[in-house]
Amino acid sequence: MKKKWIAAALALVLALSGCAASGNHFGQNSQPEPDFDANVQQNTGGSLKLLIAAEHEGNGNFAAQNGVYQCTSAYNQYWLCYVDRTTHQKQLLCTRDGCSHEDESCEAWLPNWQDPFVVGNHLYLRCMPEWTGEGPGNYYIEQRELDGSGAKKLWEAGVGESIISAVLTDGTDLYFFTYQMETQQEPSAICWNRMALADGARQRIAVLGNTENYDVLGAMENKAVLQKQTETGAEFYLCDPATFALTQVLSIQSERGEFCFDGGKLYYLEPAEDLLKVIDLATGGQVGAVSDLGLKNASSAEFQAVVEERYVLIFTMSLIEGQEGLNLAFYAVDLEQQTSRKLDFSYEKLPGVNEPYQLLAVFPDGELLVQTGCREIFEKDEIAKVGLDNAIEATIPAEDFFAGKDNFTEIDPGTLN
Ligand SMILES: [Zn+2]
Repeated sequence: MKKKWIAAALALVLALSGCAASGNHFGQNSQPEPDFDANVQQNTGGSLKLLIAAEHEGNGNFAAQNGVYQCTSAYNQYWLCYVDRTTHQKQLLCTRDGCSHEDESCEAWLPNWQDPFVVGNHLYLRCMPEWTGEGPGNYYIEQRELDGSGAKKLWEAGVGESIISAVLTDGTDLYFFTYQMETQQEPSAICWNRMALADGARQRIAVLGNTENYDVLGAMENKAVLQKQTETGAEFYLCDPATFALTQVLSIQSERGEFCFDGGKLYYLEPAEDLLKVIDLATGGQVGAVSDLGLKNASSAEFQAVVEERYVLIFTMSLIEGQEGLNLAFYAVDLEQQTSRKLDFSYEKLPGVNEPYQLLAVFPDGELLVQTGCREIFEKDEIAKVGLDNAIEATIPAEDFFAGKDNFTEIDPGTLN
């Protein structure tokens, strides 16, 4: 499972040119005094918000108003960091004097890959089980102050119970799916849960059969938008989070379709036909389409982000012929111009070269915060000496990004090793 998460994180890279501005390294005794702001991402679902996407999409980054909370990894260890949006400085969220940041005594050190998110005045982490000599522990949700201090386990899943889905909030409660493995007391099941942010009390709102598998795509009109894959296509539902009452709103026949949801619209990628369609979910009517995307030869294609309801970023992977490597490429589909083009930021991922670029966040105003630099090149004993931040961050306005402006210098991944 751990490997799956790391692989998922690596799959979410974004190739990109780098800014010349460099982030400062934090020192061994760094005392972060960041200007944290709790405001969460753009609200497109009434009071209901999608905080983090499904398990296989969680990339360890969460955009608050003024910066990004990030799970950073180096040499198979993990730390909680904060990237300031204005200064592009990345700070380790540890306030301990003389901390070597190397074990659980460090406030920022994480036992595993974890996904941060913010609700109100608190930071939360959706936590993977910690592996010990006795095997995996349980999934849990942790609560912290916005500066990363005061970690406490707010809720812990039961034995054999895993968090399998996105996390939504209405500001008071969290909603998410869990999967319960079969036990002596109960059969395996998929469950829809509500957890109170005030005290971590959890209620199972609905217990579904173990094949009733839904993906959470987002929120609209205070309902969760769910996708259910069938043998021939996909069905879409609005779900009342408090009761799990479902209303089917759409059904699409497509065996290989990829879907994402943003701002009331369903984006639907049909790789075999090289076609992107946009559907207004409230009416079911098609409101946009772009063909000849250039994705036909990709072995996989997935949505990365929708920016300003105009650009759809698609990430593709394809095998490099005769080599042990992958071509990682980004395509920007412009819904206004009805064009699709491969961005300049694509690169080859060869064995031994780790994740040279990554999209950290898309802010509500359309700016993108990106990181260049590998996440896992330091040796363990170097971490305390030089800090984790070998990366360079840059905030890039969407217009510059999609226009491919040359105010950013491309960094050769080979020079980072
Ligand atoms: Zn520390």
